[in-house]
Amino acid sequence: MAAETVCRVWSRFLPISVTESLIFRRRPSTNALGLPCRHSFGFPSKSKSKSKSRILIVEYRVPSRILAAAGWFSGFGGKKKPDIVKAGDPVLHEPAADVPVADIGSQRIEEIIEDMIAAMRNSPGVGLAAPQIGVPLNIIVLEDTKQYISYASRKEIEMQDRRSFDLLVILNPKLKKKGTKTALFFEGCLSVDGFRAVVERHLEVEVTGLDRSGRPIKIDAAGWQARILQHECDHLDGTIFVDKMVPRTFRTVENLDLPLPMGCPKLGVQ
Ligand SMILES: [Zn+2]
Repeated sequence: MAAETVCRVWSRFLPISVTESLIFRRRPSTNALGLPCRHSFGFPSKSKSKSKSRILIVEYRVPSRILAAAGWFSGFGGKKKPDIVKAGDPVLHEPAADVPVADIGSQRIEEIIEDMIAAMRNSPGVGLAAPQIGVPLNIIVLEDTKQYISYASRKEIEMQDRRSFDLLVILNPKLKKKGTKTALFFEGCLSVDGFRAVVERHLEVEVTGLDRSGRPIKIDAAGWQARILQHECDHLDGTIFVDKMVPRTFRTVENLDLPLPMGCPKLGVQ
């Protein structure tokens, strides 16, 4: 048991107790971009008693290093993590403003960036835009790790052209779509927790902007990283994925593997 820390999760709002064993009973759902999602780990139905309804029951034993890396234990002590703003909040549906160059590096902007990174890792997710923590500024953060990617099947990883990359913090990003190739895949959003829809995205993009020190940066991205960048830059325009999803593909995470309706385009590169 040394290599594994198992736990009982009393609710999504309370810290995780590491004193109890937890046997994961159901296959964990995945969140926005293919990561295990604690919000969807199967709350028992409403018919169960109130006390039981506070227990999350999930399927597999997860090595503690994975849980820790994904931010699962960050509920202990320290600063309160920022909440993720959910769909419907006006901050998610209006364009954000550029960060004044003179403010870059200030304590306020640095704190916003740190809050964003913490919120993204706590969820866990592979990208976050400042409006998602209620801040209407043009800042995005993203990262994808080998561990996160290991949750996806080999086929998915290949189809989605998903490769790990280090943490990126981009202020005032400008996105340019490159080429004509696009891909259709399911995606989700931490602000629309528990749901997915197919979205068509460009395969290659170029993003320019500033790093957290104010230095110009340019990222040429392809595949899944390009999708994440498009998704996060959309947030800065006040657009969430459901605003541009392929109609009739919206569904719960639990129904993700069910067939697409007749007439819907196939997933993959177009
Ligand atoms: Zn999102």
